[in-house]
Amino acid sequence: MERECVFCKIIRGESPADFVYKGEEIVVFKDIRPEAPIHLLVVPRKHIPTVNDLTEEDRLLVGEMFLKARAIAQRLGIAERGYRLILNVERGGGQIIFHLHMHLLGGW
Ligand code: 5GP
Ligand code: ZN
Repeated sequence: MERECVFCKIIRGESPADFVYKGEEIVVFKDIRPEAPIHLLVVPRKHIPTVNDLTEEDRLLVGEMFLKARAIAQRLGIAERGYRLILNVERGGGQIIFHLHMHLLGGW
């Protein structure tokens, strides 16, 4: 449910988060339980539960997520050294929050 969705609440400003980027289509904020020195979540404003729910109309949005992750890695100075981009899909894939997001981990 979008009303109850943790990430929709953060995007609407109803729950706090440590934002590093706010754009028209995408926001990026720090993961509350970081598993790396830098652990960010790249999140579309549009509520899409999982990768399995993507449609043709999301083609540009998915590209934006990757390009924004790349840009932020560069801005933070971790691009050359390397970083991980992770998408957990459905419960069996380790997904806990059912609002599409890409993890960006790095800074080791
Ligand atoms: P998933 O397993 O669904 O791919 O990852 C969800 C991620 O969201 C987890 O790494 C978790 O720590 C993070 N997370 C869960 N709730 C919140 C929250 O309220 N705020 C922030 N910033 N991150 C959260
Ligand atoms: Zn949502």
